[in-house]
Amino acid sequence: MTAQLIDGTATARQVRQDVAKGVAELVAAGGAPPGLATVLIGDDPASEVYVRNKRRVCVAAGMRDLHQHLPADVSQEEAASLLDELAADPGVSGILLQLPTPAHLDASALLARIPAGKDVDGLTTANAGLLAQGRPGLRPCTPSGVITLLDRYDVPLAGAHAVVVGRSVLVGRPMAQLLIERNATVTVCHSRTRGLAGECRRADVLVVAAGVPALIGASGVKPGATVIDVGIHRGEHGLRGDIDFDTAAQVAGLITPVPGGVGPMTIAMLLANTLTAATTQ
Ligand code: NAP
Repeated sequence: MTAQLIDGTATARQVRQDVAKGVAELVAAGGAPPGLATVLIGDDPASEVYVRNKRRVCVAAGMRDLHQHLPADVSQEEAASLLDELAADPGVSGILLQLPTPAHLDASALLARIPAGKDVDGLTTANAGLLAQGRPGLRPCTPSGVITLLDRYDVPLAGAHAVVVGRSVLVGRPMAQLLIERNATVTVCHSRTRGLAGECRRADVLVVAAGVPALIGASGVKPGATVIDVGIHRGEHGLRGDIDFDTAAQVAGLITPVPGGVGPMTIAMLLANTLTAATTQ
């Protein structure tokens, strides 16, 4: 391997420590500790694990855990009414509706109840619109975690050619917009892109969020490029990403591993967003 590893675990720890410091300063100045309301509907085991982790890091950073659990058969009206209560409660700094919600619920309509200033996942239409217009707002956690990693490793973005593989609302689209905000020249690829490896090979900064294991290997990496793997796939031999790590790492200059790359950054950015929400309110 010739590439330098981007250590997401260590960077996420630093971000969480910075947030904890910010919370302590807020409290020392007489403010209330930020409160994060995670909302879990139903008993999906994977979602339960995600929510438990979010609550744990929130408490470790000195924030208040205002978790709410609704039964799987809750009605749209009841779920909406809980979100309205949290939206109106001044003690709640941030609201996170864990997705996916049970199939009978309209998740978009529920997300729309969350005020932009408390939308710590950055997924509401209001925050997506602010990002699209290049105006301040709470940003989606995974792509803003990628930007933080790039910054911590001093990867130049202004004028760089960035290629994003994937155009999802959760990752690809906001990723491209955050890179534009940082003055990169951005190409977005998706399942209809022709000559994907060739497009990727033009990238100084390549971010892959396609959800396809080992989609991009050495033939899609420009020598010396920075390669960010957002994909997560659980297989027989543990976790792997959308990048064929062993071959890509022979060509890249910097590369994220899976696990230990982008994954830990997502929760760290949720904490950062919750502190931002609390201080802005
Ligand atoms: P998604 O909603 O399924 O979107 C995947 C995107 O990739 C789509 O835009 C799709 O194109 C594109 N795509 C699919 N196959 C492709 C191919 N063969 N060539 C080029 N583009 C292709 O997935 P997502 O939510 O963005 O997540 C992507 C990956 O990131 C998943 O593995 C997910 O588990 C992981 N993830 C990780 C984190 C983290 O914290 N590390 C957070 C979120 C997601 P079309 O639009 O044309 O269909």
